[in-house]
Amino acid sequence: MPSLSLPSELELVQPTPPELGPADAERIARDAFGLTAAARALGSHQDRNFLLDRGDGAPLLLKIANPGTTSAELEAQSAAAARIAERAPGLRTPRSLPVAAGGADAADAAGDADAATVREIEEDGQRLGARVLEFLDGGTLSGGGHLSPAVVRGIGELAARVDLALADFDAPGVERPHQWDLRRAPAVLDALLPYIGDAELRERLAGAAREAWAVVERLAPELPVQAVHGDLTDDNVVWSDPRTRLPDGIIDLGDLNRGWTVGELAITLSSLLHHDGVDRRAALRAATAYHALRPLSRAEAEALWALVVLRAAVLVASGHHVVATDPGNAYAAENLGHELAILDAATAVPLAVQTALVLAATGHEPDTLGLPAHVALLAGIRPEEIAGIELGTTSSALHGGRWLEPDAESAAARAALAAGASAALTRFGEARLTRSAPFAQEAPANVALGVELALARPVELLAPWPGVVTAGDDGLELRGDGLVLRLDGAEAATTAEASDAATGAPAAGHVARGAVIGRAATQLAVRVHRDGGPGAPWFAPVADAAGWLALVADPTPLLTGAAATERGAAGSESARELIARREAVFAEVQEYYFEEPPAIVRGWRELLVDADGRVYLDALNNVTSIGHAHPRLVEAVTEQWQLLNTNSRFNYPAVVEYAERLASLVPEPLDTVFLVNSGSEAVDLALRLARAATGRRDILAVREAYHGWTDLSDAVSTSVADNPGALASRPEWVHTVDAPNPFRGPYRGAEASRYAGEAVAEVERLAAAGTPVGAFIAETYYGNAGGIALPDGYLAAMYDAVRRHGGVAVADEVQVGYGRLGEWFWGFEQQGVVPDVVAVAKAIGNGHPLGAVITTKEIAAAYRSQGYFFSSAGGSPVSSVVGSTVLDVIREEGLQENARDTGGYFRERLAELGERHPLVGAVHGSGFYLGLEFVRDRETLEPATEETAAICERLLGLGVIVQPTGDHQNVLKIKPPMCLGREGVDAFVAAVDRVLTTGW
Ligand code: PMP
Repeated sequence: MPSLSLPSELELVQPTPPELGPADAERIARDAFGLTAAARALGSHQDRNFLLDRGDGAPLLLKIANPGTTSAELEAQSAAAARIAERAPGLRTPRSLPVAAGGADAADAAGDADAATVREIEEDGQRLGARVLEFLDGGTLSGGGHLSPAVVRGIGELAARVDLALADFDAPGVERPHQWDLRRAPAVLDALLPYIGDAELRERLAGAAREAWAVVERLAPELPVQAVHGDLTDDNVVWSDPRTRLPDGIIDLGDLNRGWTVGELAITLSSLLHHDGVDRRAALRAATAYHALRPLSRAEAEALWALVVLRAAVLVASGHHVVATDPGNAYAAENLGHELAILDAATAVPLAVQTALVLAATGHEPDTLGLPAHVALLAGIRPEEIAGIELGTTSSALHGGRWLEPDAESAAARAALAAGASAALTRFGEARLTRSAPFAQEAPANVALGVELALARPVELLAPWPGVVTAGDDGLELRGDGLVLRLDGAEAATTAEASDAATGAPAAGHVARGAVIGRAATQLAVRVHRDGGPGAPWFAPVADAAGWLALVADPTPLLTGAAATERGAAGSESARELIARREAVFAEVQEYYFEEPPAIVRGWRELLVDADGRVYLDALNNVTSIGHAHPRLVEAVTEQWQLLNTNSRFNYPAVVEYAERLASLVPEPLDTVFLVNSGSEAVDLALRLARAATGRRDILAVREAYHGWTDLSDAVSTSVADNPGALASRPEWVHTVDAPNPFRGPYRGAEASRYAGEAVAEVERLAAAGTPVGAFIAETYYGNAGGIALPDGYLAAMYDAVRRHGGVAVADEVQVGYGRLGEWFWGFEQQGVVPDVVAVAKAIGNGHPLGAVITTKEIAAAYRSQGYFFSSAGGSPVSSVVGSTVLDVIREEGLQENARDTGGYFRERLAELGERHPLVGAVHGSGFYLGLEFVRDRETLEPATEETAAICERLLGLGVIVQPTGDHQNVLKIKPPMCLGREGVDAFVAAVDRVLTTGW
């Protein structure tokens, strides 16, 4: 390590100014700055800060520096703030007031870079520098709470803007010896390490710092140096919008200093690492955002993570030093946990791995490891005898949920051997679905960093390159050419065999290329990693996989003689590309879920799987009523496709059987079925039937509803979340009544019975006005509003009134019907009514396009006046088989009962969340149609709209897929496949609990 002038121990401790109270602050403000203001003490680590309120709504900050800070340093800080304010407009920066200004206009004079800002005062015999600064309101990102990707990007951008603004800044007080200057890290650590009592931690920290410094020292000549903020951390950035917490200002230039520019970013990154859910990979978003504004050179990118490690080491060591020398310092003691968390996160993978990830994230080609010249590893098995087996997310070997079976991998290998291969070989770098687990909050370690071979017969192993062979518990290792070849499952060759090698191997484990080094009987796992470095695991999470290529090489060429496996883009990258392609070809109005949607490639029961093998709990897909990829449905559809698929003008059994079954599900007098392809079509047809039957055009609908996208179903949809202009743009024949929401509508709780009265009055008014309604349409349980039960008696009163005036009652059961409510198969049963026309879709096809209208013979007959009815694919043989199979599964697997029981448990668990988290305003719903409503205030019920969106984004990261609903988009609509079990419920609740506890 270079010899830097060691800071003396005293310099390591910042001297604090004398105790000063608000009265002192008011006096100083008046005497030194001519300001009349009421002062309030604010916390500070090393200075004394007071908020000065002059009664004009523009508070100022009186900052009395510790006696160790010179006036030149303080002036430099003021000038740097002025420079940042000038060069980075829009970035809030606390500028200092010139000492000459004072008085009411003081704030206007802030930021004159040349004016003196420091007033030297004397208190208790100490000379102290006092300044008055603009006060930035808002909050910081302090604490260990979660930071959203946008916030993480925001802080990275902010660091870049500060560095760009200060790039050519200089002032006499900028250059100073400083314990936080990473250029001095070795000396600082030498001085601080002895204060770490725990020898193991001390050694670990020293080792990590040594390794990091070796990297930095090599690159140091290429690292630009400039004036930097020096402490641009979560504690020292501020936001003004509490909903987004996007940092838009910086505070505390007390560590302004010259240093490596990239060191600034390293300090910023390290401060993110103790936040819940912000790991090394997430923190790289800040580096990418920084890089977009101030590109990092290759040397800077290579040094970045080493500097993060050094910063973490200095933080931990310094924390121990403060605690050791100031045992009463509770703040420092508490901080030790955060600091250690930063070190743990910074060193969670080898430095070379993380550095490769930084390089990749900043567009620099990362280092990779290749194989040397070699001969084949296997003697007696030719490459063409080796069958590749696929264990990735789309592998057909893993259909039907086989990926969840513990022996899925060996079963795939056995199948390949049974088909005649001499060996079955797994893929290097593949994200294996077999290593993924359901209900996990963290992404799995599933990317293979080696390969495995299943053998039909024993095989001899040859040294691909010369080296030294050692035998261990798991198998053999060959060291040579700077690499370690690990052969787990191999047995060492006898000495006779080893020395038998034609090339003549020297003794003591040395072997020549091509020498027999061992034998494998049935299994062999092969990995190549760099010698002398850290070992590598067999599997790594996708987010780290590209980094591990700096340390491990693809062993496939040793086995097949082919070139190394071409590494495809990680799933997350292909997801980004996919979205870009989609945006190019789709209309913008066809929205997608999530800011960065994963590429979903597989579904199984209540689970979805992305291209990286990340498994999500699907709490959203009510369409998939019986679960994703249900084997019975797959089989029935496959069979029917092979037999026949045609249209319902032909005579075939499937459509008749299905229509009979649908008719048997509804009460008298409903007995006639139309089959279509979607909910929109079903609603559209239901309304046309009503119009035909009544000869009337006017329709009454409930507000906040969504009924579909076709002209007619859209006409009765007034959800402003789906269409902000909905209410103002209805045709004159569409009339609406209040959404009967007993939680947040005009009538709440017991008052909710009044909705029916008002809605009936509207039916009567329309009749009296000469525009009696032909149809009244409503969801029978308010799905779109968040799973809210209609008030008791609501539909009974409305159906009665509508029929009294000659209209038809249309029930939209598209979302809530078909057993999902648990207690009731149809939503209208909950209301104790029988509609005249029922529209149903979604769940009936389990995702296959299928919709139905069920009505009376009489109403159906009225359609004659419109011509004849035909839908090309509606009720096709395949669709009909889908419909019948879905019904079979719902009945035979007891899915409605499961919705009732597991749904009841779900509701209880959500209610428990409400007891602990004030954001929860209400739990709505029944069975597997639940709504978790978020409010900012339980009195005003102010909807927590932005929070709900951000919560959904964070839940995705924790493996849960759910979305908002309702006019305010503040209700989590929870409507999972009906096969969901308690384990899934617990996983959902645990993830929501974590998000509500640690932030979003
Ligand atoms: N009615 C309701 C209540 C719905 O929620 C929807 C779809 N969200 C529809 C009708 C329209 O169904 P589809 O998307 O199948 O056309």
